Amino acid sequence: MEVFTREYFLEFKEPFKIAHGVRKGTDCIHVRISIDDYEGWGEAVLPPYLPENKQSVLQFIKQLNLSCYNQDFDLNEVLDYVMNSQPENFAAKAAVDIAVHNLYASIHKATIHSIYNLDLPEDAFTTYTIGMGTIKEIQTKVKFASNFKLLKVKLGGENDRAIINAVREITDKPICIDANQGWETKKPALEIINWLATQNVLFIEQPLRKEDFTGHKWLKQNSPLPIIADESIQIFEDLEKVKDCFDGINVKLMKCGGIREIYRILQIAKQLNLSTLIGCMSGSSCAVSAAANLASLANYLDLDGPLLIKNDCFCRIEYSESGIITL
Ligand code: MG
Repeated sequence: MEVFTREYFLEFKEPFKIAHGVRKGTDCIHVRISIDDYEGWGEAVLPPYLPENKQSVLQFIKQLNLSCYNQDFDLNEVLDYVMNSQPENFAAKAAVDIAVHNLYASIHKATIHSIYNLDLPEDAFTTYTIGMGTIKEIQTKVKFASNFKLLKVKLGGENDRAIINAVREITDKPICIDANQGWETKKPALEIINWLATQNVLFIEQPLRKEDFTGHKWLKQNSPLPIIADESIQIFEDLEKVKDCFDGINVKLMKCGGIREIYRILQIAKQLNLSTLIGCMSGSSCAVSAAANLASLANYLDLDGPLLIKNDCFCRIEYSESGIITL
């Protein structure tokens, strides 16, 4: 295998605001892994709230030695080597994992979902994210997304009720809420969740700080709506921590280290009766299409990253007007 990397900046169509802050785009590293005439591309998406950056990803990829693998390589053997080569570095590992899966699929004339004996459901659809902003900006976004089946509204700021009221002036369709750890304590959080339960909301993602497991457990026991972990779950081993404190989980390639890791997490989540979302980190269609291959294993898809950026340099995913995904 030969490895090539390049730096890239994914630009948002419009500045994106959530409870952590506002930004214009996202750094990423693309990796191409090739054998003979076959190649596979992967992507590490690096929003500023994650511990990795372009330098750490490039260093991680540089220390890998994949030159011993030829066209007959064993997928699991390569992925084991990548996962065990260093601790942490999950976005870097995901980039390599995506590239290796694509390379393997290309050599074997397969698709990534077929490698895992999965189908790609014809009606798999993504939520569309409504970031924070002024009431006018939020209503413009909701109107733009009028054909999407399900909206994900970012809350966790000062004027949450005003935001929902503004959304409800435009549409009565189901929405889900992502508070991005924005609510300080459990009791005021429950108060607003009780109100949101009257607003055709399906679930609440990450209401409290990621390390507040007791607060989330209390919310799970008292909330009329399912409570979903996002920032509180990163890797496979975190399932043990979240399983009694949340009703479901949001898994992402960049958090856990790749497609095989998401597959493992979703298998166990099902056994634990956790509902599941596959999410993304505002990546291009390179990373997001890789995650979409596991669509049949999740209850919800939050894979609208390519819709929010203006310089996707891959063309691996298409969305219908209602958000239905085709690879
Ligand atoms: Mg989230």
